[in-house]
This record gives sequence, structure tokens and C-alpha cells, in this order.
Amino acid sequence: MKSQFAPTNDTGIAIFERLESEVRGYIRSFPILFDRGIGTTVIDADGREYLDFFAGAGALNYGHNNPAFKKPLLDYIQRDGIIHGLDLATSAKKAFIGAFEKYILKPRGLNYKLQFTGPTGTNAVEAAVKLARQATKRSNIVAFTNAFHGVSAGALAATGNKKYRSAVGYGLAHVTTLPYDGYLGPSVDTLDYFEELLNDPSSGLDKPAAVILEAVQGEGGIRPASLRWLQRLRDLTERHEVLMILDDIQAGVGRTGKFFSFEAAQIVPDIVTLSKSLSAIGTPMSLVLLRPELDVWSPGAHSGTFRGNNLAFVAARAALETYWADSKFEDEIARKSGILADELKSIAYDYPNIGFSVRGRGLMYGLVSQEYDSLPIQIQGEALRRGLVIETCGGRNEVLKFLVALTITEADLRRGLSIVRESIGAVQASMDRSSAESKSATKV
Ligand SMILES: *Cc1c(COP(=O)(O)O)cnc(C)c1O
Repeated sequence: MKSQFAPTNDTGIAIFERLESEVRGYIRSFPILFDRGIGTTVIDADGREYLDFFAGAGALNYGHNNPAFKKPLLDYIQRDGIIHGLDLATSAKKAFIGAFEKYILKPRGLNYKLQFTGPTGTNAVEAAVKLARQATKRSNIVAFTNAFHGVSAGALAATGNKKYRSAVGYGLAHVTTLPYDGYLGPSVDTLDYFEELLNDPSSGLDKPAAVILEAVQGEGGIRPASLRWLQRLRDLTERHEVLMILDDIQAGVGRTGKFFSFEAAQIVPDIVTLSKSLSAIGTPMSLVLLRPELDVWSPGAHSGTFRGNNLAFVAARAALETYWADSKFEDEIARKSGILADELKSIAYDYPNIGFSVRGRGLMYGLVSQEYDSLPIQIQGEALRRGLVIETCGGRNEVLKFLVALTITEADLRRGLSIVRESIGAVQASMDRSSAESKSATKV
């Protein structure tokens, strides 16, 4: 079925290339006019179907247009429910807060207050670091290598990626970057270094207000911190009265198997940021969770016009009720995680000359090609030709990133993985051909 929005014979993307800024990103990897999305399928303007292994960079954990959220949203619009609400009290927001307390906070014994920030993840991070600085009256923040926390200046200072950092045009300050778990190889516990810095008054490290981290780094290359490392970091920060901000914008909302990525380590951060899949249907929404003692904000001190996206509240509440009332969904994620991890390990085993490694937790996995860092982009291209949308990540795009919707069917998961396998086979075959050609060329 052709799209009603595409004028006849124009299902191309020329107008984007002509009028949209060079800042365009994802459209370059997927030069397709997307039109509809149903579950884990996206459909282009010509009616061609693609399997989606990208899930809006983690904003679509429940798939596209999940019927469990569509109905309440349509009803809400139909009855003229408030759509834009600043931070006014609305019945939709009240119902979301009630559901968040009932299904998320209470069962986990978590005692947090909720701060609704502007709708982007980076805005939640800005709020979190501002709050940590106010509450401790210190300015320095410790962030970790390969971290991604967003691209507004305050959050960007804690982000590692050079491409984003260099765009800001001035020096980013008040953040100290320390090695994340595994940065110095498997035999070094990088927290030995952090602990020494904290213990030594002459180390040169200004005592931080907070550490900010992802429990599984997303954009930086799907790097899970070990549970032991997370526990030791929590212990260390507690002893030194340094706050822990856990940025769960990508790894949260079920992505690593539990609602929060830190649950597996049984730690409780002081501040948590949520966004991406929190609103469930892909509408923007962000939330900061903070320990009540830290709530030193004065009224309106961190503001924003779009803190009350009521369509997001309606869908977010429906998602909590549909998926988080019991542990069935978590069991599902665990089962599919097993399938994904096993198949990726099997692919790595079957292509020993590429030297893939596999990293991840839950339904957040990476197939890492350390040696041939152009491979993931080639595999991505082959996969797209075969009808699979999949993204790459890491500082050199050395990681093929598996971010399937948590609601994906087992059949679709296996189908997508077999497309990946085929695509790797095609890339391998062309590598073999070009090395054979260069060999015969040197012989002559
Ligand atoms: C995506 C992301 C952000 C930034 O969110 P935006 O909505 O893009 O501003 C921050 N932290 C993490 C861990 C993310 O994955």
C-alpha cells in the first residue's frame, strides 16, 4: 500500500537532502522514506516492509504503535483531554504518577521524588547534575570513558564522544573523566584508581558532587559494567559522600531485563534519569528521580515549556499497567535475551577470522568488531538491503547494536538474526574476494 502522504512517484528523500541541514544523522544510514510502524515492522512509502532491530535508539521498547497504548491515546484525544500542560496538575499526569508509585517504586522499595523536566534525555541529565551541584555545594562531576549523556553543554561535558564534544565550540569544564569498568582490560579494576584519588587529598581530583554513569553504556558501544563494579562504586561513593546519578535513559524501562538497569546489582542510586522508552509510544518525556533529602530545588528553578506532555503520560501509564504489574514481562525479556546472546555467540564462533566479541545484558547487545571497525557499517548496509534496520555504535562505529523491541516475537527475533548472519556472510565473501584479488595482483 502506497502512502497517502507521498505524492505519486515521489517516495524519495531528495527534499531532505536539499533543505535539511547537514546535521542530519540517522537518515544517512537509512535513506528511506518511512511511513508506518507496526510492532517491530516499519513500512516505507512504497509499501516495503523492514524488520526494526533499532527501536528508535531505545525509545520504542514496546514496539511501534502498540495497541495497548493506541486505544487510551485515541480515547484521550477524542474526549479533549488536556494535551499541553506545562507543569500544571492534570488528571493524566496524576494517573501516571499514581501508576509509577504503584507498579515501579513501591514493589522495589524505592523512595524517590519525581521531577518532570523538559522532554529530552539531555534535559533530565542537566537537571540531575544541577541538583547534585546544588545539594552538595560542589561543582566537579565524575563521568566515565565512552559515556553518553546527551549533547546540551552541561550533559555534553560528561559525554566522551569526540564528534559531539568538538561541536560545542568552547572548552567543556567541571567534569573529570575516569576509566569505566573494563577500560584498562579485564585484569584491572578501574575503581582502584578512583579510590586512590578520593583518599589522597593531594591527588588533584576536586571532590566531586556526583558520579554520573550508565550501568550498561549504550551509544558508547554496549559496554556493561560488572555488577561487582557497580556495587563497589556505590559503596565508594557512599563512603565519600559523593552522589550517584544513574543515567537510565537508554538502559532503563526493561532494556536490561528489569525496569531499572541497576536492579541487577541491587544498588540504589541517589538520582536516576529516565526518558527514551518511558513514554512508551515514542512521544517525548523525561523524568528525574531523586532521594527526598536532595530535593533542594526552589520552585521553578529548573523550568521548561514542555514538561507536561500529557499524551506521554497517558501512554506511559498504560505501559506500566500492561507490562509491569507482575513479572511476566521480565521473564519474557530474559528468555529472548538468551536466544539473542546464544545466536550472537554462535555467529562470532562461525566467523573466527573476523574476531567478533559479544557484549551486553538483557536485550541490549553488541557484536563488536574491534579489528575491522568498518565492518559493522558494511553489515548494516547488507542488512538494510535484506529488509532489516539495525544501528551501529561506539566511538568508531565498531559495534553492531542489537536494540530490538522488548515485545518482539521469537520468530521475528530469529528472522532478524538470520538476516544479520546472511549479511555478515556477504561482507565476508567480499572481503575474501578482495584479498584474493590483491594476492593475485602482488604475484604479477
Ligand atoms: C539518548 C541518551 C541521552 C540523551 O537523550 P536525548 O533525548 O537524546 O537528549 C542521555 N543519556 C543516555 C544514556 C542516552 O542513551
